[in-house]
Amino acid sequence: PATPASLLVIFGASGDLAQRMLLPSLYGLQHAALLPAGLRILGTARSEYEVAAFRDLVADAVRRNVPAADVDPASLDALLARLDYQAADSSDAASMQRLGERVTALRNGDVLYHLSTAPRFYGPICDALGAMGLAGPGTRVMLEKPIGHDLASAIEINDGVARVFDEDRVFRTDHYLGKEGVQNLIALRFGNAMFEPLWNARHIQQVQITVAETVGVEGRGDYYDTSGATRDMLQNHLLQLLCLTAMEPPARFEPTAVRNEKIKVLRSLRRIGRNEVQAETVAGQYTSGAVGAKVVPGYIDELGHPSRTETFVALRAHIDNWRWSGVPFYLRTGKRMARRSTEIHLQLKSVPHSIFDPGAHIAPNALTIRLQPDERIELRVMSKTPGLDRAGMRLSEVELDLDMHEEFADSTRRPAYERLYMDALEGNGTLFVRRDETEAAWEWVDAILDGWRAADVRPRPYPAGTWGPASAIAMTERHGHTWRE
Ligand code: NAP
Repeated sequence: PATPASLLVIFGASGDLAQRMLLPSLYGLQHAALLPAGLRILGTARSEYEVAAFRDLVADAVRRNVPAADVDPASLDALLARLDYQAADSSDAASMQRLGERVTALRNGDVLYHLSTAPRFYGPICDALGAMGLAGPGTRVMLEKPIGHDLASAIEINDGVARVFDEDRVFRTDHYLGKEGVQNLIALRFGNAMFEPLWNARHIQQVQITVAETVGVEGRGDYYDTSGATRDMLQNHLLQLLCLTAMEPPARFEPTAVRNEKIKVLRSLRRIGRNEVQAETVAGQYTSGAVGAKVVPGYIDELGHPSRTETFVALRAHIDNWRWSGVPFYLRTGKRMARRSTEIHLQLKSVPHSIFDPGAHIAPNALTIRLQPDERIELRVMSKTPGLDRAGMRLSEVELDLDMHEEFADSTRRPAYERLYMDALEGNGTLFVRRDETEAAWEWVDAILDGWRAADVRPRPYPAGTWGPASAIAMTERHGHTWRE
């Protein structure tokens, strides 16, 4: 069994992700006294830094990315005191050797390597660690997305890592799994007796999973243009949310049991290929428009050249198993949408028979688990409209609304990477993605991308600040369903 890491090595420690997310999250864990006792943190990248300069860089990153009121000088100093730095170029054997010597000198037990560089370096870094004898039992590796841009490249990356690290020592991040609201979905489903009996095709009409962003490509256009919404969001985050929503109850909340259930969902997804893409998917690309009061340029203008990359994707998925037979799962994600919103919405079937006036409106019950911008659970039920009404009983929809931050008033919002680091440092892989999940997700997504290529599907324009192309709305309306807005 794993023991808490004595050393965390961050590859790409000077990069954007490290500055914005990783180092501030380590600060948060330090402040909450949740880092393993004695943990040392070794940053590495090609750039040369004296240790003091690296500590300054980290202090800056923390001050820029953690709210000022939460930056406690003593905690920051305690974090800085754990830090070391060693420059190394992952493609240069001599510098990797020097890095290896530092690792050997600093480790005092388990080691967690966190690869936050471009994924093409994952294989070479692992090979170098393996060759130096620094990847044996007691070492683990944490990998950032994207694991490939299709199935073939994902297999190549995974093979490169697997040459050196056994799968149970590989921690693939999907930072959505670190979000409090996503874990709350698991608590809601399996910590209550009232939902699970309804959680199937007999009672659920349709499921919608939305990840809507208001941001555009934010200076990362060159990267984004090689990826698009399907690879960047659907293959990982949306499919992980789908798995947690649709999976069978695992026997225990532990890595193998949970991931065994998630992979069954991915393998039950009905293929959407060349013959289905036209009817079951919509790709979109934003044009100029207004997000809130702000006028923003279109994707092509931001990018500076023509492109067929989709910044929006919506589709109708089916999970071909007993639990979900016939229930559409509508998934959509996009940039420059009307509102920032991440939610999972389950709409139940209508009551089988109405005892009220024929004209009385009875909306189907619905459960919405909101993850962004706030974490709340809403349950829509029908209620009597209060008052005396000679014409008979009138009904209205009411929301039973549980706001997590009101309910747990002393809880602070925790960045997803705090949870992920805490678990990876302890060696708990429950909230990380297993190799077979990544590859099954790519296989399913590859069929869609191949279908688009074969059918010459071009993304349909949608003005920034809207909910995507009109055809995404038509796709659900054809089946008598409406996107929740
Ligand atoms: P980045 O800003 O380009 O940083 C890359 C880091 O890798 C830098 O520290 C760079 O430092 C180092 N590096 C580059 N070439 C190297 C080499 N040959 N040997 C050793 N180190 C090298 O990238 P990032 O945005 O932080 O992304 C890091 C990882 O996170 C990527 O896998 C990315 O896909 C993933 N990711 C990032 C975000 C995000 O919001 N930024 C979101 C999701 C996933 P030097 O130039 O000094 O070597």
